[in-house]
Amino acid sequence: MARFKRVLLKLSGESLQGAKGYGIDETRLMQYAEQIKEICGMGVQVGIVIGGGNIFRGMSGAKVGFDRVKGDQMGMLATVINGMALCSALNAIGQKAKVLTAIRMEPIGEFYSRDKAVETMLDGGVAIMTAGTGCPYFTTDTGSALRAIEIGADAMLKGTRVDGIYTADPEKDKTATKFDDISYDEILSRGLKVMDITATALCKENKMPIYVFNMDVVGNLKKVFVGDNIGTFVHP
Ligand code: UDP
Repeated sequence: MARFKRVLLKLSGESLQGAKGYGIDETRLMQYAEQIKEICGMGVQVGIVIGGGNIFRGMSGAKVGFDRVKGDQMGMLATVINGMALCSALNAIGQKAKVLTAIRMEPIGEFYSRDKAVETMLDGGVAIMTAGTGCPYFTTDTGSALRAIEIGADAMLKGTRVDGIYTADPEKDKTATKFDDISYDEILSRGLKVMDITATALCKENKMPIYVFNMDVVGNLKKVFVGDNIGTFVHP
């Protein structure tokens, strides 16, 4: 029995660039697709929200004088490109998947609705929910929290490139220690940069558990469902 029956998996755009430093690394993309197919094979219903940081972030545009709203729209379009790549990779290995977009842009993807996403998952497909929330000034972490709540996920899985939540940034502070579990309030009071405050608050208010783990280690996604303690569990 898988630990969670229905999940929202958040994938970071930045991880998708792999060793390339920009854009989409095909090896990483296929590793993600294989791992996602594996959990679908376990009967897990999978919804995905993907970031766009490997292509464009609204904030980086704003720093060089871009209008923030336009920049954020570019960021949202970047998430659609990533979602399309992931969908193609899944389809190529025989896993059904569908791109939904929070901004209307048929025929690239169907316009997102909660019912369509759930229908796709019940039909054995992966619902890839792109363009974040569809609104500027938000992040894909907030989009993930929102979609996780909407689709009634048992948990939101945040796939990152570190293996959980630490007392400090483990890439900068060697004395940082990892939490096996932590509450939303502790994340907020310690000012830990797990997700932005909006996303954390939304999960807290709606009692949506979060599991933070390293998605870049092949095999880790399945381990989350088997119940191996590889990441950090965030609970009320
Ligand atoms: N974005 C947005 N609204 C949303 C989600 C995303 O405006 O609801 C934009 C924002 O500019 C953001 C970019 O899309 O910087 C890419 O998303 P994010 O930075 O969350 O991607 P990640 O860091 O996960 O790769």
